[in-house]
Amino acid sequence: MDYPGNLFVVSAPSGTGKSSLVKALLELDSRLLVSISHTTRPPRGQEQHGREYLFIEETEFRGMIAHGDFFEWAEVHGNLYGTSRHAIEERIKGGEDVVLEIDWQGALQIKKIFPNAVLIFILPPSYEELLQRLHRRGEDTSDVIEIRMSNAKVEVEQAQFFDYVVVNSLFETALFDLKAIVHAQRLKYAAQRRNKSAVFRALNLV
Ligand code: 5GP
Repeated sequence: MDYPGNLFVVSAPSGTGKSSLVKALLELDSRLLVSISHTTRPPRGQEQHGREYLFIEETEFRGMIAHGDFFEWAEVHGNLYGTSRHAIEERIKGGEDVVLEIDWQGALQIKKIFPNAVLIFILPPSYEELLQRLHRRGEDTSDVIEIRMSNAKVEVEQAQFFDYVVVNSLFETALFDLKAIVHAQRLKYAAQRRNKSAVFRALNLV
């Protein structure tokens, strides 16, 4: 499949700062669209249906799996999460750049079916720092933090299968790195041929 838009897939262990980084990236780049996932987990805090997630029941989710409605889906921390095929394919075919903020299992599924996807893994600077961030965030009990820390060890091992790695030591530096990846992707030959078609034609380039 030779889709005209870019698909950026960002994964990281919980507490690494992935959501804040992606949010800042989207604010800086109006050409990037984020895909809203479906999940069976209940809303947390101020979360709204259709804004953070599409919150659905497990039976509906299973029905969508059976219909092949998901581009990818995975079970994460006991809940089901999935990216709707329709939302992604239409947008990328339309030449839009899409960002997915999903777990590593979903990211690796996507790479198999769509090898042009750009996989970006965000690492914490150390396990000590990750632990401190999870405590500072104050969202989880000590038991949940312990689970997140043991999951993090499995998760960071997946970074080797990603195209890019960003270390989130300093937020601004990590954001700069993310922007650089998006920018470089847009300078690839195929992307430039699409975006600078007049120049390519003038130079008789195919
Ligand atoms: P949370 O429940 O904290 O919002 O998300 C838990 C994990 O699920 C995070 O790693 C998040 O990136 C991941 N996630 C969110 N949406 C999707 C999705 O559509 N597919 C997959 N595979 N993971 C997702």
